[in-house]
Amino acid sequence: MPSIRILPDRVANQIAAGEVVERPAAVAKELLENSIDAGATQIEIEYRNGGKAYLRVEDNGKGMNPDEALLCLERHATSKIREADDLLLVTSFGFRGEALPSIASVSRFTLRSRAEGQEAGREIFLNGGKMIHNKDCGMPEGTRIEVAQLFNSVPARRKFLKTEATESAHICHLARLYALAHPQISFTLLESGRTIFRSPSCSDLNDRVHEIFGRGLAEDMEPVEAEGEGYHLYGLLAKPGKGRSTRKEMLFFVNRRPVESKTLAYSLIEAYNTYVPKGRYPPVVLFLEIDPAAVDVNVHPAKRELRFREEGKVRGFVIRTVLDRLRELSGDGRIQGITLEDDSVEKEFVLPRLDPSALPAPSANRSNLDSNASLISISDVVSTGESPLTKASPPPNEKTEADEQVRKIVGFRDDTGVAWRFLGRVQGDLVLFSTDAGVVAFHCRAAYERVRLEQVESALASGKSTESQILLIPEPIELDGVEAGILESALPELSNQGFAIEEFGRNFYRVEACPVWIEPGESISFLRDFLDLARRSGGSAVGSVAQEEIARLAVVRGRAAGDDFADGEVICLAEQLLRCHNPLTCPQGRPTYVEHPWREWKKHFGRGL
Ligand code: ADP
Ligand code: MG
Repeated sequence: MPSIRILPDRVANQIAAGEVVERPAAVAKELLENSIDAGATQIEIEYRNGGKAYLRVEDNGKGMNPDEALLCLERHATSKIREADDLLLVTSFGFRGEALPSIASVSRFTLRSRAEGQEAGREIFLNGGKMIHNKDCGMPEGTRIEVAQLFNSVPARRKFLKTEATESAHICHLARLYALAHPQISFTLLESGRTIFRSPSCSDLNDRVHEIFGRGLAEDMEPVEAEGEGYHLYGLLAKPGKGRSTRKEMLFFVNRRPVESKTLAYSLIEAYNTYVPKGRYPPVVLFLEIDPAAVDVNVHPAKRELRFREEGKVRGFVIRTVLDRLRELSGDGRIQGITLEDDSVEKEFVLPRLDPSALPAPSANRSNLDSNASLISISDVVSTGESPLTKASPPPNEKTEADEQVRKIVGFRDDTGVAWRFLGRVQGDLVLFSTDAGVVAFHCRAAYERVRLEQVESALASGKSTESQILLIPEPIELDGVEAGILESALPELSNQGFAIEEFGRNFYRVEACPVWIEPGESISFLRDFLDLARRSGGSAVGSVAQEEIARLAVVRGRAAGDDFADGEVICLAEQLLRCHNPLTCPQGRPTYVEHPWREWKKHFGRGL
């Protein structure tokens, strides 16, 4: 009969090592966190062969005296908590007191450390958890830990390690995360003596991103900050339209700890819904400060995946903050688009004279057009909070408060409007404009969809019934039972939007009128699409879902693809686009226009223009 026995510490440590340090990067993480906890201002990390052969982390933190150095290698030795209740309040990285003994049990482990006021340092060398020596050594204040031949004594674990390149990539990623989280600490990362990055202490997060990820990423991001409801969210956010193909650059930190959080990732993806295309991800470096008692960091020994106690509240706060900032940034984009960069730019604008009859006939916002429709003046370009598309533009010469605001922002000096000048059509939906800031390549279809989406959305949100047109010949539509049910529940909303639908038999309906923004011949297929979408989203075709779907369909159905835009229409479209809440991207998050600034042209030619 097998007898029960208590495992020797060495075996227990080796088992724990399997959880705490499944790969070299996990070792690096534990050592780095200890260095940060020890108050280091300088940390150097070096590794060889993906960290399998050798890994060193050295710091100038508070160090350990000889007793502490010995004690820290005992299982459950920690200076960071005393009671289990302290777990709720931990702000230090470590707290389990497991890391060092676990790592030491599966490697050749050398610890050197010297505390303040100590005459000498202490060097302890262990092999596979067995003490080989413990002696004085000369070294400056701080701690240096070397881990060689990781898992050599545990072939089963070594087998699971990936290639050197993969393991190196993990170490680099990890070092970058910690460097981002602690810009005040100077970090160096070396691979076999070669510098991967070296970043002195930086006061600014953007500088840090620049140093460790390069300029491209730093330039695609803008700062964000908001405080409230017990949260503080800050960091850098992708500019609208700057998506990446993977989530690798969506970086989250909670209380300065790099974390993986589905809550945060989904909130971001949701907030960027119309700001980056589907299937692309915004690069972000976001820090959330939150009461440590409101998060559970103890879900996994590797402590990456984190849970919030109030998921919904965090999600709401993050989405609101990010959306507010994105709207602001889209606004900025709009104003940049008309910034006077160069005083020498002529301020007389020659615009093609347009035959007013060439201007577009469709849509309810024809009222926005006056004889100056071809000139997009600065006053038109300013958002006033309410959707501009539903409101008539101010007469061209009237100075509005918004005008003044923009004047301040762009340092505008005279009374001429800043304009986009129509240059011509390039190909298909692509049209060129010149502005004070550069040349704009404008995508008509993308712009059209954005304008239309905001029009329909604002009509829906206004709650007012939309104008309706009576069909000359009412159209019959036959539905199955489920669809009929959905239709019934959506009828009030649909009739509010200008549909008149009568039931004339079981599951038979007749469409007698439709909103003015639908081509009469399209009303049946619109309804079918609508019911289809509603069915797929679980049959909830009421309230905001109905509104969103109507808006989306209206955009898709609005205009057949390949249908050309007349010149006058294009100009009108550009004008309307610049008054949208989010003029930079289409409803799918792809750009509506791209501006190539004059300074770039000058660079191309190597001289003034
Ligand atoms: P934990 O970090 O969970 O406390 P560790 O095994 O990682 O457990 O470390 C044990 C103890 O050793 C720490 O609590 C700390 O007191 C000490 N220690 C570890 N690394 C360092 C370091 N780089 N500088 C100073 N003290 C350290
Ligand atoms: Mg630790």
